[in-house]
Amino acid sequence: MNIEDIKKSEQFIDGVILFDECIKKFNWFNIGGKTKILFKPNSLKGLIEYLKLYSSRNKIFILGNGSNVLFDDETYQGTIIKLGKSFANITLLDKETIVAGAAISQKKVSDFARDHNISGLEFMSCIPGSVGGGIRMNSGCFNKEFKDVLISIQLVDFKGVVRSIPADKINFNYRSIGLPKDLIFLSATFKGNEKNSLEISNFMRELKQKKELAQPTRIKTSGSTFKNPIKQTDKKVWELIRLSIPSKTGYGDAVISDKHANFFVNKGNAKSADMKLLIKFVREEVMKKTGVKLETEIVLVE
Ligand SMILES: Cc1cc2nc3c(=O)[nH]c(=O)nc-3n(C[C@H](O)[C@H](O)[C@H](O)COP(=O)(O)OP(=O)(O)OC[C@H]3O[C@@H](n4cnc5c(N)ncnc54)[C@H](O)[C@@H]3O)c2cc1C
Repeated sequence: MNIEDIKKSEQFIDGVILFDECIKKFNWFNIGGKTKILFKPNSLKGLIEYLKLYSSRNKIFILGNGSNVLFDDETYQGTIIKLGKSFANITLLDKETIVAGAAISQKKVSDFARDHNISGLEFMSCIPGSVGGGIRMNSGCFNKEFKDVLISIQLVDFKGVVRSIPADKINFNYRSIGLPKDLIFLSATFKGNEKNSLEISNFMRELKQKKELAQPTRIKTSGSTFKNPIKQTDKKVWELIRLSIPSKTGYGDAVISDKHANFFVNKGNAKSADMKLLIKFVREEVMKKTGVKLETEIVLVE
C-alpha cells in the first residue's frame, strides 16, 4: 500500500480519506486500535474510483454501524470503507416495496415501512445495524430474517463493477449469506404486505418490550457473540454458556452480560485481546462440558 499515492488521490476522488483514524468510536464494543486508512465515499462514483485504484493492492473492510464487529488492538493495515449519507436514501417503489440504501439503519427502514402501511419489516426495528450489515449477516429476530423480506440486492465488487442480484439466487443461511467477501452492498429492495400502520406500530412496541426483557441495553456490546448451534442441539447458545461457565467470568473489562450470557460486554476499557481471551475460554469450556462446537457470530476484523 502506497500511502503517498493515496494521499495525492484525495484531490480527485469524491470522498473523504482519513489516515490513522481511531476506530473505537465506529463500533458498539468501543474497542480497537487505528486504521491506516478510513475512506468515506461521497458518491458511488467516488467509491468506484477508490476501488479501481486501490482494491488490488490494499486490504479492504467495509463497515456498517459496527454493531457486529470486533476490531483488533493493532492498527488495521488497510482501508476501512464507511458509507455515509449518499448511501442512505429510502424510497417507496410501490405500495408494498421499498428500496433502501446500505447505510441507512434497519430501524429507519422499519419505521418507513410502518409509516407507509407495510408490514413484515417490524423485526428490523430491534436490530441496531445498517441495511448493508443486515444483508451480510442475514440478520433477524423473532423468527424473521432478511432473506424473508428481500427481493434483490444491489452491489459493487472490489473491481468497481455494479450488479443487482435477485434474492432467490442467493444461498442465505443462518446469520450468513453465501456471497464472497469482496462485495459492497449498495442498497436492497424489500417487500412486505399491506397493513394498518397502527397495528404495525403496536406489533413493533410488543417486539421492543420482548427484546428489552431478554437482552441488555445501553451497554458496549456487539450483540450475540456466537451463533446458535442449530445443527448440533436445540439448546440456545446462552443456555450452553450458562451451563458451562461461572457467570462472573471475565478478562480485564471484557465480561459476560448478567442478563444474556451470549452478550459479551466491554464494561470500561476492554482491549480486543481481553475479549478474544473471553471468546476462546467460553468456546473451549462449552466444548469440554457439552461437546458443542461454537462458531462466532461477531465478525473479527484483523
Ligand atoms: C444490542 C445489540 C442487539 C443485536 N440484536 C440482534 C438481533 O436481534 N438479530 C441479529 O441478527 N443481530 C443482532 N445484533 C447484531 C447486529 O446488529 C446485526 O448483525 C447487524 O445487522 C449488523 O449491522 P451493522 O451495520 O452494524 O454491521 P457491522 O457490524 O458494521 O458489520 C457486520 C458485517 O457486515 C459487513 N457489512 C456491513 N455493511 C456492509 C455493506 N454495505 N456491504 C457489505 N458488507 C457490509 C461487514 O463487513 C461485516 O462483515 C445485535 C447487536 C447489538 C449490539
